[in-house]
Amino acid sequence: MQFRDLKSQYRALKKEMDAAIEQVLDSSDYIAGDQIDELEQELAAYVGVKHCVTCGNGTDALTLALKAWGVGAGDAVFVPDHTFFSSAESVAFVGATPVFADVYEDTFNLDVESLERVIRAVLDEGRLTPRAIVAVDLFGLPADYERIREIADRYHLYILEDSAQGFGSTYHGKRAGSLGDISTTSFFPAKPLGCYGDGGAVFTDNGEWAALIRSLRVHGKGSDKYDNVRIGMNSRLDTIQAAVVQVKLKAFQEYELRNVNAVAARYTEGLGDCVKVPRIPEGYTSSWASYNILLKNEEERDQVRAHLKENGVPTMIYYPKGLHQQAVFSGCCLYGERLPVTTDICRRTLAIPVSPYLSAEDQQRIIRLIREKTGADA
Ligand SMILES: *Cc1c(COP(=O)(O)O)cnc(C)c1O
Repeated sequence: MQFRDLKSQYRALKKEMDAAIEQVLDSSDYIAGDQIDELEQELAAYVGVKHCVTCGNGTDALTLALKAWGVGAGDAVFVPDHTFFSSAESVAFVGATPVFADVYEDTFNLDVESLERVIRAVLDEGRLTPRAIVAVDLFGLPADYERIREIADRYHLYILEDSAQGFGSTYHGKRAGSLGDISTTSFFPAKPLGCYGDGGAVFTDNGEWAALIRSLRVHGKGSDKYDNVRIGMNSRLDTIQAAVVQVKLKAFQEYELRNVNAVAARYTEGLGDCVKVPRIPEGYTSSWASYNILLKNEEERDQVRAHLKENGVPTMIYYPKGLHQQAVFSGCCLYGERLPVTTDICRRTLAIPVSPYLSAEDQQRIIRLIREKTGADA
């Protein structure tokens, strides 16, 4: 059994996929082919924004957004403590300071009260200039944008939506990727919409920022790439990867998103009485980048994990530690926040296999194994 079943996906899409890749090979446009422009239009239309700029990966997408805003040394950017490293790495990479806020236990997303406390603490201290909030759509579920927007407006901050895991999810009828001032996603193979290597994209309604990001992703180009008007990056999506995403985007829209939601619903039905299952608030949908259960404590988590492993079921821990516990951020000021929810979640969380292609039999077996070990059926 695979943790995220990419083999079955390739088997299902093989004919179309091989043809799409072969077309790029025949054209020999390996960088900047027609597929890039087509894909950017398709993605912008799907997400519901004016501009999509593809790039090398989801981490670069965050970096490009921060660079477009001129975020750098002396700036504070607020980041949830419970997320993948890139959400804060990109902030530090452009020279700004990540400041961590806690998350809610039931959605795993940014706790707006903790967020507001750290913003005020940074302002009180007066050393850094608050510039932006990185709102992460963790595990496929959008953050609480209505309340985050209130805070962003109150303190004049940009919202950078990190939707590396949230592509396809919705928040009160709006799609992830349209919920920030700039939004980003990743096409890393295991994300909801993946390619066959690294890839990413930036979304925004702001034409000036989109143009700036188009320049920044190709060495700060002016009229062409040998006219360089700023310091940029080399961060393009390969044409082959664009062709892969085009094929996958069709399947994603036609059935994958629906099927992964059906799989998640079966987990919630089968496990809701014995472990803490993820809550999807009213007005939200998830794209289920992963399905994370919370066990009673670390001991129970490790027992369930070992039991699943003995029976050939792979699991992951998202994430083993909060960002404030990463060695590289150990010198960061926490502004009085103790981040207890993240610290607790990291000890009790377990991600179990989820994908649009998980068979009903495999899923029943996973549910049974977890029930055995949590004593639900004893
Ligand atoms: C995967 C991920 C990223 C980074 O994407 P890459 O394409 O791997 O660089 C950023 N943020 C979050 C929340 C992610 O899960």
